[in-house]
Amino acid sequence: MDVNKIREDFPILSRKMNDKPLVYLDNGATTLKPQCVIDAVCNYYTYLGANAHRGDYQMSAQVDEAFENARITAQKFINAKYKEEIAFTSGSTMGLNEIAIMLTQQVLKSNDVVLTCESEHASNILPWQQAGIAKNIQVEYIELDHEGKVTIEAVQNAIHDGVKIITLAHVSNVLGFEAPIEEICKLAHEKGIIVVVDGAQSTPHIDIDVQKLDCDFFVFSAHKLCGPTGVGVMYGKKKWMDMLEPVFFGGESNARFNKCGDLILKESPLKFESGTQPIEGVIGMAAAMDYLQKIGKDNIHAHEVMLKEYFLEQVKDLDKVIIYNANAKSGICTFNIMDKGKMLFAQDVAGYLDSLGIAVRSGQHCAKLLPDILHTPGTCRASFYIYNTKEDVDKLVEGLKNATIENCVNIFF
Ligand code: PMP
Repeated sequence: MDVNKIREDFPILSRKMNDKPLVYLDNGATTLKPQCVIDAVCNYYTYLGANAHRGDYQMSAQVDEAFENARITAQKFINAKYKEEIAFTSGSTMGLNEIAIMLTQQVLKSNDVVLTCESEHASNILPWQQAGIAKNIQVEYIELDHEGKVTIEAVQNAIHDGVKIITLAHVSNVLGFEAPIEEICKLAHEKGIIVVVDGAQSTPHIDIDVQKLDCDFFVFSAHKLCGPTGVGVMYGKKKWMDMLEPVFFGGESNARFNKCGDLILKESPLKFESGTQPIEGVIGMAAAMDYLQKIGKDNIHAHEVMLKEYFLEQVKDLDKVIIYNANAKSGICTFNIMDKGKMLFAQDVAGYLDSLGIAVRSGQHCAKLLPDILHTPGTCRASFYIYNTKEDVDKLVEGLKNATIENCVNIFF
């Protein structure tokens, strides 16, 4: 994997921030876009232009072809068995909300239990809490181990007769640990429990095979894998996609309806895609998938883990750097900085790094239940991707060495 060549594909990397070359280490939040993705999006607006699945003219047929080819690209990207299992969404959040509403309304009974854990992103807790209110569905939490990991033993302990759904992130966005989804699915299915997987932080980085995982549902967002914002995928096993009624209704998802309210829906996936879709986004997402496939997920993951290990090596003798997830095999590094016996406020550290041109995330990373477990109100997160280099890590480490109470204004403790 030639990182310098990859960097040339990302025009934004030539930007300066605060007069310093941009060091972008916030890939857990979103990734930068290569020129081929930008071109694919522009190409739709420049040459295609029409809506999908609506027109009886040549340009519209070309859009249909590009749109449905993108579905096949997405199907292959996660090794789904059928293209009908792939519905486009606006991203992971929308996918999880749709799944939570559909399952709560159409499958669960009053007082059934949904199992998740406290390290989850808000997008995989709130939809279940909110969708469950009307039916008094309980959300329960699997106990995390001392590092904040989900273990199969803890899942086993948390399962009881009331549990009907387990919903978990494949990889945690704060700690970067991978949950043992394949084992969880095996255990859950023996007990008739449905498994929903939030793949927002795994799909960009590791090979995804939904057939091997055997999960019932899997969602992800394009923008975290070099694709456009506002588009993503909801995968559901064919039996669920056939059985479930959608959450949204409108144009192109219905085959027929009358004024009395009788409705015949189209087959999956179109029944889940009411209204005009983010067509340029879908086409751009497919371009991003092709781009990543060429690099190879194994290479991507190895590169990120190499950068993380390099970072850990550089900071191992720096007492001021507190690492929360040293053992997570991903490109996510979560840390805080101490100076003169005080822990610096994470946002202030991020602000100081920004003055050096370095972009990291700080705060709670949308996982608002996790700080109680980490015993800190917030952390900094550096998350690496294909275009990051050892030099980026060196700049980060240099910045952390120089972060002090004096240059990071507000102090937490
Ligand atoms: N789940 C996880 C684990 C995430 O990291 C994110 C994005 N931070 C989401 C869900 C939500 O993704 P989106 O904002 O693209 O809907």
